[in-house]
Amino acid sequence: MAATVPPDHVVIFGRPGSGKSSLAERLGADFGYTLVRTGEMLRDAVRKGDHLGKRVENHLARGDLVPDRLILELLEANFRGPGMTHLLFDGFPRTMGQVPLLDQFERHYGFAIGCYLEIAVSRAEAVARMTGRRVCPRCGATYHLISKPPEVAETCDRDGTRLERRPDDTTEVVEFRQQVYDDHALPILHHYEQAEPALCRKVNGNQPFPLVYNESRRALGVPDEAPN
Ligand code: ADP
Repeated sequence: MAATVPPDHVVIFGRPGSGKSSLAERLGADFGYTLVRTGEMLRDAVRKGDHLGKRVENHLARGDLVPDRLILELLEANFRGPGMTHLLFDGFPRTMGQVPLLDQFERHYGFAIGCYLEIAVSRAEAVARMTGRRVCPRCGATYHLISKPPEVAETCDRDGTRLERRPDDTTEVVEFRQQVYDDHALPILHHYEQAEPALCRKVNGNQPFPLVYNESRRALGVPDEAPN
């Protein structure tokens, strides 16, 4: 019989537009993981305008990776360690240079990753999802030209404001972020497949979210969610 408890500590991988972050949120809510999200921590630093935020701002706007030494600085400032019994890493490690940083954290804080979970989506599908995204600059409501269109084209259903693209969702930046993923994340996945084959799982992300979610649960050793 399948276990009903997923691994204590998980790393999730997926290209921008794969739905990785929504999945991480659901897994966090359902299984009590503390999310370690470097993208979110970086955006937070930029919002605060602190010393680190000022140094990473341009990298984020370009869709470029933040240098590994700044990621180390970021994690050292944000990672609480003791008391964090269920960790879900979303966005780290993101370069081969960050792989030994995760090893160091595991040794230092005494935890071990039990699963490397990849949400596999084709690059074309990811680009279509990202470039179709629209957001209302006034109320923040999000739409998608294909999967969640507004009632009136390019107009917010709630307040009639003209919808916009996020600055890092423009076709040029989206393609660049995809290339960054191919260049940096694929070697990491390859590395873990060689080093930890028993811990690597791949889920088909080219399907509706509920199916991706259930396939991810199974990959983590827990049965499907009971239907309502
Ligand atoms: P996405 O998965 O859609 O790219 P994230 O929120 O994970 O979104 O990351 C947003 C941005 O933050 C990235 O484009 C990159 O500039 C930066 N970033 C996040 N995590 C890392 C990391 N571990 N190393 C380097 N840069 C990172």
